[in-house]
Amino acid sequence: MTRIYNFNAGPAALPLSVLEQVQEEFLDFYGSGMSITEISHRSKWFDDVIEDAVGRVKRLLGLNEAFDVLFLQGGASMQFCMVPMNLLPQGASADYVNTGTWATKAIKEAQIQGKSVNVVASSEDKNFSYIPAKMTFNPDAAYVHITSNNTIKGTQWASFPDTAGVPLISDMSSDILSRRFDPSAFGLIYAGAQKNLGPAGVTLVIIRRDMLERVPADLPTMLKYTTFVEKNSMFNTPPCFAVYVVQLVLKWLEETAGGLDKIEAANREKAALLYALLDESDFYSGTAEKQSRSVMNVTFRLPTEALEAQFVEEALQNGMGGLKGHRSVGGCRASIYNATPLEAVETLVDFMKEFARKNG
Ligand SMILES: *Cc1c(COP(=O)(O)O)cnc(C)c1O
Repeated sequence: MTRIYNFNAGPAALPLSVLEQVQEEFLDFYGSGMSITEISHRSKWFDDVIEDAVGRVKRLLGLNEAFDVLFLQGGASMQFCMVPMNLLPQGASADYVNTGTWATKAIKEAQIQGKSVNVVASSEDKNFSYIPAKMTFNPDAAYVHITSNNTIKGTQWASFPDTAGVPLISDMSSDILSRRFDPSAFGLIYAGAQKNLGPAGVTLVIIRRDMLERVPADLPTMLKYTTFVEKNSMFNTPPCFAVYVVQLVLKWLEETAGGLDKIEAANREKAALLYALLDESDFYSGTAEKQSRSVMNVTFRLPTEALEAQFVEEALQNGMGGLKGHRSVGGCRASIYNATPLEAVETLVDFMKEFARKNG
């Protein structure tokens, strides 16, 4: 068996020890004589899994009693429509900041519903290569929606904007649990699991309880946040396997990786190695503006598209995969989420230096 260093943007690398544990207990889950994929979601076994996962999310992020933690389906993309459906009343409007592909999609889903959206800032003028610094929020907005990390464009909010009491809502799909932040300003946070939390198929939603008062009574049951809050994410069959792997990743984050502050320091160290190389190089050029650079997704170009293709190919031959940029932007991208070890980034940096020497 040969495992590569995996720089995929999502689904993405998981901690090896988690994968090994999944393998080890796959046929007989905690003495049940059944696989996690075979047991009832109404069983004590699964109850323990989801309870433990919820508890760990709350501990890791420092969430108080005001927040509920949910595991939903439909991906982050489903949240693009559920957020305005549940939390943006007719007659009110919401502020959105457009920082890239995912934010654009979130805006579109609100508009499809005929909801009133104010795009208070956008970085589209420079191909979303930066996070806007100045914006004025509407004091009576229902919420302010941002995308904390722009997976495709390689930009990230370094700190969150002051919305003067208007609830912040963030798509944190690609940087959830990568750094510490103050959750108190947030009305809702969502994240598809497959970037930084686990396998595809489950979406983490953190909702502040006062937001639930807005949920209209006439929504379909499966599209209401209240349904899942009342039933502890088990109104219908949850994606048991995905939730279980997320639970193991959270346990790894708390007990092996040392918690949020440690992982944040490790993430910053990894990103700094790559950005230092981009800055000193005449061969590679970073595509995100410096003050907006993502700690999770490092996007860069080589002098020609032919060299980019050769780079991706040769990297794979050398045991490093997933370095091709998103199909919508081209170039190269190294996604270096929580589970990417420092040695993977060190190996990549060495390879990049050697590649530049040979081809520059
Ligand atoms: C990947 C990604 C999405 C889409 O997630 P799905 O789970 O595929 O719907 C949305 N937002 C961001 C920031 C992402 O990185």
